[in-house]
Amino acid sequence: MRQFIFIIGLTSFLFNQAANAKDRYTVIVEKMQAIQKEHASTTALYSIGKNDDGVDIYAMRVSTHPSKMDKNKIGHLIVGTHHGNEGAAADLSLDFLNSLIQRFDSSELYRGQLSDTEWTIVPVLNISGYNENHRHEHGMDPNRDYPGPCISAAGGKLASVKAAMELLASRPFTGSATLHGFVGTFTYPWGIAVKNDHTLDHNRFVEITSKAAEINGYRYGTSTEIVYPCDGSFEDYAYWKHGAWSLLVELRNGSSQDIKSTTLALEKYFEQLDSTPSTQHALESECDRTRNLDLRNE
Ligand SMILES: [Zn+2]
Repeated sequence: MRQFIFIIGLTSFLFNQAANAKDRYTVIVEKMQAIQKEHASTTALYSIGKNDDGVDIYAMRVSTHPSKMDKNKIGHLIVGTHHGNEGAAADLSLDFLNSLIQRFDSSELYRGQLSDTEWTIVPVLNISGYNENHRHEHGMDPNRDYPGPCISAAGGKLASVKAAMELLASRPFTGSATLHGFVGTFTYPWGIAVKNDHTLDHNRFVEITSKAAEINGYRYGTSTEIVYPCDGSFEDYAYWKHGAWSLLVELRNGSSQDIKSTTLALEKYFEQLDSTPSTQHALESECDRTRNLDLRNE
């Protein structure tokens, strides 16, 4: 009997060890696999490339023909978790993904809309940071590793960021949202250090972002005004280089209520977008290094 109890105890110990050994990112990938299995006709799980640790960075494509990219459709992109200590960004990515699929399953009208649109969702870009609850990846801030009009760096020193740059170049993306925490804001370019932080699309950004922010009560404005100016971020790169209508989401506190209302607000943001990226996204203003506050904490 004692031997039996010992074996039960040992089995339970080994099981717990295995459960503890499962890292946070594996849990996210397993959730994506489960979604893909249940919605095989509208979702495809694929790798956008390997990071510096040789780990695949997974994306979910949601479309009527998800197995391959269709550049004729309107493309929308969500990239979560550049900063590993802002883990609620991954939860928001999955909440948005689940909501998107639910709408697709339940509504004829939405199915019609989705037939024109292809979504790409990357819940976690900085995998080692996410597993360790750490802002950086390999000692670098991934959201300062993109090229920009006011810096000379080529960007993409991190393999994860290089993969994100290649993803952005792989097809036109009309809308893009990048997910962070924790301020409670929706912001748009410019967030780089320039004399005038208003883009030529400023009025349109105000219009669409203010309507989205009505839903979750977030503040909105340029990233420079509301958060702080810095160079090398995804959100400015996506707009400057490719014209994507680019939104920086700073979750308020990452609570389930915050995530639910922000999913609804994001849906509102994307549904207002035109069918094509901006065509007037070049930087007109002069760079101004004295404005680069880069507080490096959001
Ligand atoms: Zn962040």
